[in-house]
Amino acid sequence: MYTIDLSGKTALVLGVANQRSLAWAIAESLGSAGCRIAFTYQGERLHHNVTKLASKYDDALIMACDVTSEEQIDGVFAQIDKDFGRLDIMIHSIAFARREDLEGEFRKTSLEGWRTALEISAYSLVALSNRAAKMMEKHGGSILALTFQASQRVFPNYNVMGSAKAALEHAVRQLSSELGPLNVRVNAISAGPVSTLSARGVAGFTAMAAHHRKKAPLGRNITAEEVGDSALFLCSPMASGITGTTLYVDAGYHIMGI
Ligand code: NAD
Repeated sequence: MYTIDLSGKTALVLGVANQRSLAWAIAESLGSAGCRIAFTYQGERLHHNVTKLASKYDDALIMACDVTSEEQIDGVFAQIDKDFGRLDIMIHSIAFARREDLEGEFRKTSLEGWRTALEISAYSLVALSNRAAKMMEKHGGSILALTFQASQRVFPNYNVMGSAKAALEHAVRQLSSELGPLNVRVNAISAGPVSTLSARGVAGFTAMAAHHRKKAPLGRNITAEEVGDSALFLCSPMASGITGTTLYVDAGYHIMGI
């Protein structure tokens, strides 16, 4: 049996809102492999949740980071450098679009709604990777983003989030090509529907998840833990030959025609 040992390694996990967050499941998998974790939370509203969850790890670092603030992003990397002295893994599990842009007619998306969704859900990966690469260039590293198949196919109501995920997946490939020479790998997991705070903000999410369950080759939806374990694999030396890839963790849904 193979085991993944990440002791001595450190990870920055962005995007824990509560215990249902995919970022939390990923942190749990990385933590179980012995990785030391820095968590971020967006705004005081989520400070308590994240501190409570992360309290099971004695050596965790917990910091505020709204990705629309360059100052907060810089502060996160300065703190990790000071406290951990190294960074091996970064998990980008962040997305946001205004509620009115996640229902109704896509053609009515406002410029402001487009900017907000693309800035928070896609540009942030570029800004964060630029900082992470500086800390990873000495010994290599792994960056992982979370995406959804609405980047490639039409899912009613995902609207501007489909545009954001397409941009995110492109950024994964572009960053992967640029950071490969530093031995920094950049990949994405395209997850099937999991009931989280963000997912429930998309109109019709429950019906979409039921459709996935019925159509997927495995005849079920995935769990957050399955995303966590696939993330652990991708960020570990077992995936040392994989970069620029989108790995579908969706019970096989993406291969189906009808
Ligand atoms: P979630 O609501 O638990 O996580 C989303 C996170 O984004 C939250 O922690 C929120 O605080 C953070 N965020 C939003 N705006 C931010 C900002 N300005 N600065 C910093 N953080 C900000 O939901 P989730 O489903 O775990 O989402 C995590 C990722 O997984 C997202 O990229 C999402 O698109 C992706 N994903 C989710 C599903 C699903 O069905 N749940 C499927 C595929 C992909």
